[in-house]
Amino acid sequence: MAKIFCIANQKGGVGKTTTAVNLAAGLAGLGLRVLLVDLDPQGNATMGSGIEKANLDNSIYQVLIGQATVKNCAQCCESSGYDVLPANRDLAGAEIELVDIDARESRLKDALAQVANDYDFILIDCPPALSLLTLNGLCAANGVIVPMQCEYFALEGLSDLVNTIKQVHANLNPDLAIIGLLRVMFDTRMTLQQQVSEQLLEHFGDKVFKTIIPRNVRLAEAPSYGLPGVAFDKSSRGAKAYLEFGVEMVERIKHI
Ligand code: ATP
Ligand code: MG
Repeated sequence: MAKIFCIANQKGGVGKTTTAVNLAAGLAGLGLRVLLVDLDPQGNATMGSGIEKANLDNSIYQVLIGQATVKNCAQCCESSGYDVLPANRDLAGAEIELVDIDARESRLKDALAQVANDYDFILIDCPPALSLLTLNGLCAANGVIVPMQCEYFALEGLSDLVNTIKQVHANLNPDLAIIGLLRVMFDTRMTLQQQVSEQLLEHFGDKVFKTIIPRNVRLAEAPSYGLPGVAFDKSSRGAKAYLEFGVEMVERIKHI
């Protein structure tokens, strides 16, 4: 049975997609069967996996409104050996159309249940909002991975996310847990980042992943080649950190 994880943070541009794509590639590299679900109308995880979002016959949008199955829509990320449930701007419409549909927050959960035996890991790249789409992600998942930059406002945003996760846990998905907080785009030369990182460790202790993802330009360049950073330049510092994170993740979820 697949373990399902959301990569979520309602703040924009904090490294969700970079984490989702590189973790998917890292886990596939360990021989695990991985499905990456792009739950963002921006389609960045789709493009970053080398799949052209403009040419999709079917996408996650059709899955959510019940017009297609995950099996029909999933495509392979050729470079890295994981599957992608792709998205494009059509998905923005789902937000509105789902409002009148029964059990609108569990559409993704129901769809993924059909492929649960085909994968070891399902990773969901969430959009930068606590929206109905993100709610679908949180309802479908066993846990949440929260990438964050160690900046002044990061902790403030975190409390909104933690509250949402608590509410979903209490009302909709008793399985949901925070798996961990991942420090990304980290620059060791910046004192502020060190301080915020220490505060994070004080507040969240073991929930903070040991692996730290450095700021690394190779990770930022990779998507324009349609490649995960770990496939684009596996010897770069960023790629090595994400590969290490994959190993830490496997270890961490052994008991879930
Ligand atoms: P959104 O909220 O829009 O979905 P996001 O949280 O998914 O954004 P990303 O798209 O992963 O964030 O990253 C934002 C930008 O930062 C991108 O241009 C990405 O290439 C770059 N980036 C992400 N991680 C790193 C890193 N470790 N080092 C350097 N650049 C990075
Ligand atoms: Mg993104």
